[in-house]
Amino acid sequence: MGAVVDDLLALFVRLVEIPSPSGHERAVADFISGYLRDAGLDPHEDESAGATGAGSGNIVVRVPGAGRGTPIVVAAHMDTVAIDGPIEAVVEGGVVRSAGDTILGGDDKAACAVLLAVLADLAKSPPSCDFEAVFSTCEEVGLRGAKALDLSLFAARAGFVFDSSGPVGDVITRAPSQKTVTADFHGVAAHAGIAPEKGRSAIAAAAAAVAAMDLGRIDSVTTANVGLIRGGSATNVVPERCRIEGEARSHEPALLVAQTAHMVDAVQLAAALAGIDVEITVVDTFTGFSLDDDALPVRIACAALRELAIEPRIGASGGGSDVNVYNAGGLPSVNLSVGMEQVHTPDEYLPVERLDDAYRLLHALLQVAAATTG
Ligand SMILES: [Zn+2]
Repeated sequence: MGAVVDDLLALFVRLVEIPSPSGHERAVADFISGYLRDAGLDPHEDESAGATGAGSGNIVVRVPGAGRGTPIVVAAHMDTVAIDGPIEAVVEGGVVRSAGDTILGGDDKAACAVLLAVLADLAKSPPSCDFEAVFSTCEEVGLRGAKALDLSLFAARAGFVFDSSGPVGDVITRAPSQKTVTADFHGVAAHAGIAPEKGRSAIAAAAAAVAAMDLGRIDSVTTANVGLIRGGSATNVVPERCRIEGEARSHEPALLVAQTAHMVDAVQLAAALAGIDVEITVVDTFTGFSLDDDALPVRIACAALRELAIEPRIGASGGGSDVNVYNAGGLPSVNLSVGMEQVHTPDEYLPVERLDDAYRLLHALLQVAAATTG
């Protein structure tokens, strides 16, 4: 493989080996800022760290072009899900994996590497269209970094988030909205052997609530899950406290409201039947989006892929990512696949050639955007 791929791979390995679980982005943010400054660019770290709980702010860098066509923004996130020990990347048979029992972190360091490499190219040879790039924080914990961005400061009229898994070619134009439901059951503690009749079990009430919920795949566009349950103190104490945390997602706002209401009803009924109090919190975690096939970023992404002789695969995601935030903020944006597989697991891997595909795709996006208006 060529020198570009070797450099990209080395950069990718360097990035994944800097640990950056959400909230601990400082070291990788410093590496990224340093890399960009060495390339002759002027990265700016925003002031969002305090509000987001991240280890750093988001890093934004602008590369003025010749002003032709459509100004675009490309985004990647710097944080990863929690890690289980240090990450050591191993390259074997054209595939990068993690040596230990933890994630590789290709989600989203593959995109960070590609974006850095292209930015370094643009520092030497400016693009024809104006270009902005974002390295965000705390994507994995509620898209907090992206939510803290001031989109009014961006000149871009189309956004491209490189944060989808699978071979290069996916163009994600739809994603669901998500609500999170948290319920704190407040029962009455008592000795389980001496005076159980004086107690009211928070765990039993929470269990009844979960058992009464429709969960899993609710319909073709809606899913729901209770993912955490925590309560009690010892086997001989009727538990006073129990918390459950769940979520619902849907591409249809009305169905999301209905599913969330169903989960809240189940909690309230179970608490009432148990004769205990419950506190319920419902949070809008992220807002879904749906772009037409002729929306600006969709047209640009599809044309760029065809330049590389890759047939675009337009599709929907079941997850949320920074792209939800850009769309909710009025900047039409798509999520593009960048090559990683089995993300968020110790089996995560990245075929090396996909780094090159994503790198060429980003250059092609710039070419097509410069030739695209309206
Ligand atoms: Zn990601």
